[in-house]
Amino acid sequence: MTDIIIVGAAGRMGQMLVRQTQASSKATLRAVTEREGSDFISKDVGDMAGLGPINISISDSLHSVCQSSSIIIDFTAVSATLSHLEVVKEKGKGIVIGTTGFQETELQTIKEASKKIPIVLAPNMSVGVNVLFKLVQEATQYLHNSFDIEILESHHRHKKDAPSGTAVKLGQLAAESSARSYPQDANFHREGICGPRTEKEIGMQTLRGGDVVGEHTVFYYGEGERIEISHRATDRKIFADGAVKAAIWLNEQKPGLYDMWDVLGIRG
Ligand code: NAD
Repeated sequence: MTDIIIVGAAGRMGQMLVRQTQASSKATLRAVTEREGSDFISKDVGDMAGLGPINISISDSLHSVCQSSSIIIDFTAVSATLSHLEVVKEKGKGIVIGTTGFQETELQTIKEASKKIPIVLAPNMSVGVNVLFKLVQEATQYLHNSFDIEILESHHRHKKDAPSGTAVKLGQLAAESSARSYPQDANFHREGICGPRTEKEIGMQTLRGGDVVGEHTVFYYGEGERIEISHRATDRKIFADGAVKAAIWLNEQKPGLYDMWDVLGIRG
């Protein structure tokens, strides 16, 4: 049994994580947190997540509840995750990070922490998207010489970062699998007389609106033909199930930085 703490429990993902952890036969929810000043502090997290009371009240301090579990699941925001990471490192626990939008220096901080504690960091924890990553890696290896690559992603109106962490990973995989570099060859913006696209360019397009859970398509445009590889998420449950699976897996791991390919046993 893996004892779990969920930080940011009142968020879109946090509530789903509470429900999916409670539904798991291999994980036990021990504590949850929310940001200081949240209206949910001290309320029962089961009531908040629509499960009825489960006798776990929402804390505003990871520090004070951290000892109760071995693994923390964090889908919050960049600055919150980095401060949670400090606590988790100090207490010698493991952490599953689903938060997206980290800059290079912040990723270095996570990498450094992984020398002391086990960390799963993945911009998308769904099984389907991690298979999509593999398909894109392979397709790009076959197609890169003669096909133009464009990546399109769509998310709900509240999403804070763009392009999505998943789109960034798709761009990185496409670049690594061909003679391109990311972000140097990525084009995030076309407007006005911007001229024809270059051969190496990876176009990155972002749509925001409504309640879209997450959609990603990689287009390979050739002369007289086109391949589109798409994933459409219709339920946040897929990310939460992946994160709980990652937490259970991480409980058995040594310090290190892992991703969902490690968790799912997909070869890079
Ligand atoms: P959200 O805004 O609905 O939820 C974030 C929650 O974190 C909020 O309730 C907020 O109050 C809480 N929070 C902020 N600071 C905190 C702190 N210091 N301590 C405790 N709680 C704190 O956002 P969301 O849609 O749930 O997404 C959260 C993150 O997860 C985003 O970065 C998003 O891109 C990412 N995400 C990742 C995946 C994946 O599979 N990896 C899937 C979906 C979303």
